[in-house]
Amino acid sequence: MNFIPLKSGKSVEGDEIKAYKSETKGPSWIYIMAGVHGDEVEGVYVVQKLYEWLQNQEDIQRPTVIIPILNVDGYRAGTRTNAHAVDLNRNLPSKDWTNKGREAKYNPGTKPLSEPENIYLDKLFQKYPPKLIMSFHSWKPFINTNGDCLEVAQFLERYNNYEIVQDEIAGHPTPGSLGEYAQQEYNSPVITFECPLLASGKSLKEIWDENAVGLQALMRSNLLD
Ligand SMILES: [Zn+2]
Repeated sequence: MNFIPLKSGKSVEGDEIKAYKSETKGPSWIYIMAGVHGDEVEGVYVVQKLYEWLQNQEDIQRPTVIIPILNVDGYRAGTRTNAHAVDLNRNLPSKDWTNKGREAKYNPGTKPLSEPENIYLDKLFQKYPPKLIMSFHSWKPFINTNGDCLEVAQFLERYNNYEIVQDEIAGHPTPGSLGEYAQQEYNSPVITFECPLLASGKSLKEIWDENAVGLQALMRSNLLD
């Protein structure tokens, strides 16, 4: 797949947020993104490796947008939140956005979409409407689904054996999250892919290795058509 750099976004501290789109166009796009939480290096690594791999696959032609690291300031600083200490995954303008974060690490910001990183993300969504978003995080390994993407999660589970958590069933409210917002505003399902943490004893390479075959097969699968 050939990719073209998109106009970069700007973080709170003025750093470039890079994004790329495939040369293959379509009415809607697969998003592969990471680094919403800056300290979740495992997810960033998996997306980096997947992106490298995709660039060498001439046989895959799929409208795709790649955002390697959304929260570039947090990534540089090693923090979950951005430089305003806001959790970008609680700051999106979903219907249930609230200014009450349960804990400091879930600080939703002063108002919905207050943060430049999310404004940039939303502009990309407007210009290149998502059909499925896969956002890579890290925690205990599981695959969280929002909206109609259970089949995709089950496909991946066959390779990595991560537990599937369906938001509709788990009932764990995440106001202002991408999972809620993208579904409401763009009718796009969201896979929040939680990679294992380095603290679990696995290396970045091992985390990629246990996901490579499944993610590569998914990119070739008609589940994404
Ligand atoms: Zn996260």
